[in-house]
Amino acid sequence: MKNNTEPTFRQSVDTMYNRASRLLDLSPGLEDKIRICNATYTVRFGVRLKGKIQTFTGYRSVHSEHIEPVKGGIRFAKSVNQDEVEALAALMTYKCALVEIPFGGSKGGLCIDPREYKDEELEIITRRFAYELAKRDLIHPSQNVPAPDMGTGEREMAWIADQYSRMNTTEINSRACVTGKPLNAGGISGRVEATGRGIQYALREFFNHADDMKKAKLKGTLAGKKIIVQGLGNVGYHAALFLSTEDDALITSIIEKDGMLVNAKGLNVQRVFDHLTEHGSLVDCNEGKYIQESKNGLEQECDIIIPAAIEGVINIDNAENIKASLVIEAANGPITAPADEILNKKGIVIIPDMYANAGGVTVSYFEWVKNLSHIRFGRMRRRQEETRNSLLVKELNRILKTSGLKTRLSNEFIKKYSEGAGEIELVRSGLDDTMVSAYQAMSEVWNSRDDVDSLRLAAYLLSIERIASTYHAKGL
Ligand code: GLU
Repeated sequence: MKNNTEPTFRQSVDTMYNRASRLLDLSPGLEDKIRICNATYTVRFGVRLKGKIQTFTGYRSVHSEHIEPVKGGIRFAKSVNQDEVEALAALMTYKCALVEIPFGGSKGGLCIDPREYKDEELEIITRRFAYELAKRDLIHPSQNVPAPDMGTGEREMAWIADQYSRMNTTEINSRACVTGKPLNAGGISGRVEATGRGIQYALREFFNHADDMKKAKLKGTLAGKKIIVQGLGNVGYHAALFLSTEDDALITSIIEKDGMLVNAKGLNVQRVFDHLTEHGSLVDCNEGKYIQESKNGLEQECDIIIPAAIEGVINIDNAENIKASLVIEAANGPITAPADEILNKKGIVIIPDMYANAGGVTVSYFEWVKNLSHIRFGRMRRRQEETRNSLLVKELNRILKTSGLKTRLSNEFIKKYSEGAGEIELVRSGLDDTMVSAYQAMSEVWNSRDDVDSLRLAAYLLSIERIASTYHAKGL
């Protein structure tokens, strides 16, 4: 429950923006121009279901068109409202600028609990919503490109893409009207897990920066670090899975809607996820101790918290009790502006949402580029790379042999080295590079300026500066 003095989500985002814009010397009016949301379209449409017409309310907000197309997911949730969609659209603008993805910011939402509908019903509703947006160019390959968000995934994106193509039969780039599609409908390898992968890459990079770790009073590597994950949806699941299986971190607690699981030795994320998928709940999952009362779940002892569910979960009611050294915002807006101040005062380091969860939109960008180029990444080069690499391997082995040395290149090395990069390898490389470069930029600002006391402030500064320079380049 939100306390009276807690700002709304949009106010929280604006407050954080203002903290940064105050430190910049923007030309008059530009500060408002960047912050204020350009437009929010509300649509109410009726769909005949089970013999009666049901009315649905949906939104598509366009925060900033300094670069087009604008980009951002479509959320299906009962709690969707204009304030939330506008806050999320603003975060998309800042996020894209920070990780240098050439999109403006947008976001959409439909007030619906998808679990209350059969698949066929959901398809009719999604297609109708897509129709309403597409006919106003709020879905369009060169103007507005949605993607998955809470409550939506590949399936919904495939329906949207198909709906758009039916309405634009001669548009050769119609597949680029939406990202996050299944592979066989124009999607890209690695998009589903992209946001979770991005969280992993972000944390790995944080642990490469000794000064930043010191600020969080963290030592060593990710191995053995105790992590609480809130929300085992697409983002939380992949982040927890990769961190536990590839970096040996311990997922000591998973918090879901109906309770939490705790295991000091680390939970088996895959098995917990399978249980959740099968039963729709954590109850009776014997991978850890089940505790129904999860209200104070984020207040447990741990090193890192990954809030991967909804906004506002760390707020003025619980911020003081947070014990983690580091919070990485996998969700959008999980920490309210007042809570952000409290955590900063307590010395808890926050890796901010606009950076931390940018993996999704980064790989969406790759998908959009793939759709426009009409060719899978790596298709032209893979074999050629493999041929060249094996040529080199053969030659090296020949030299070793003729020089009389007994040593040969190991089979393991030859196998690894010879393989050319396919789409998934290129996507991972592009994502890793994006996350590493953006972290380094933020960290540099954080460490070099006395007036910048957090990664969030650094992120906003970089982002606003980049948007401002786009406006300047346009002569504004
Ligand atoms: N919904 C995701 C986000 O909040 C992805 C957006 C996209 O891929 O366009 O970043």
